[in-house]
Amino acid sequence: MPEGHTIHRLAQDYAARFTGTAPRVTSPQGKFSDAADLLGGAVLTATEAHGKHLFLRFRDADWVHIHLGLFGKVGFGAAPAPPPADTVRLRLANDTAYADLRGPTTCALITDAGKRAVHDRLGPDPLREDADPGTAYRRISRSRTTIAALLMDQKVVAGVGNVYRAEVLFRHGIDPYRAGRDITPAEWDALWADLVELMREGVRNNRIDTVRPAHTPEAMGRPPRVDDHGGEVYVYRRASRPCHLCGDAVRTAGLAARNLFWCPTCQQR
Ligand SMILES: [Zn+2]
Repeated sequence: MPEGHTIHRLAQDYAARFTGTAPRVTSPQGKFSDAADLLGGAVLTATEAHGKHLFLRFRDADWVHIHLGLFGKVGFGAAPAPPPADTVRLRLANDTAYADLRGPTTCALITDAGKRAVHDRLGPDPLREDADPGTAYRRISRSRTTIAALLMDQKVVAGVGNVYRAEVLFRHGIDPYRAGRDITPAEWDALWADLVELMREGVRNNRIDTVRPAHTPEAMGRPPRVDDHGGEVYVYRRASRPCHLCGDAVRTAGLAARNLFWCPTCQQR
């Protein structure tokens, strides 16, 4: 499942290619055809992301709401667009570029009210200017649920996925099994500020890097990480490998339906 930085990056990538143009909107697969017809000749006026939800605005208030889910993907290319595969749910194409969306969980045309309902279900997103981390802390500070599970709950914080939750808890030495209500305001402020910084860098680089300058492969004289997710990390998918800080084995366990990774030595707060 892509994390929030990927969706914000997609919002930027769609905007760079289509804002201010009236792309041809089609659904080669057919499932979005009726909505695509309604968008004929409409100008794409804005794009936006909130957590793992992507919104493309046409005209004043026609929104295409996209959630990639586990299998969704977007591919961009330069015009002229080749004949589409019949798995493409939504194609946008103008004189300079095209974008193909395949396999999303959601691709629907919604109104402003429908969009507001999506926002209302989501917690603050560290990548949005309007995010209020206090809203998240009110939920966290009342909860007996573990901080590792709360960070993955999109109603609490939107956009954080399995990689960022593991890495931000490591960076702050926090035991992932601590209850939310035991997280102090100062700890939450630090976690939030770090998420903002890490996720912004994720949007810029289109990948997740979480190691501090002292722990890069160059600084430590170690080989770079080899993983199809890319990026340098402390614990994510490093089960039973030595921790970059203390050398003890990184551990893994199931938590909130996903594998959690952490260092039991470094994360005792
Ligand atoms: Zn360690």
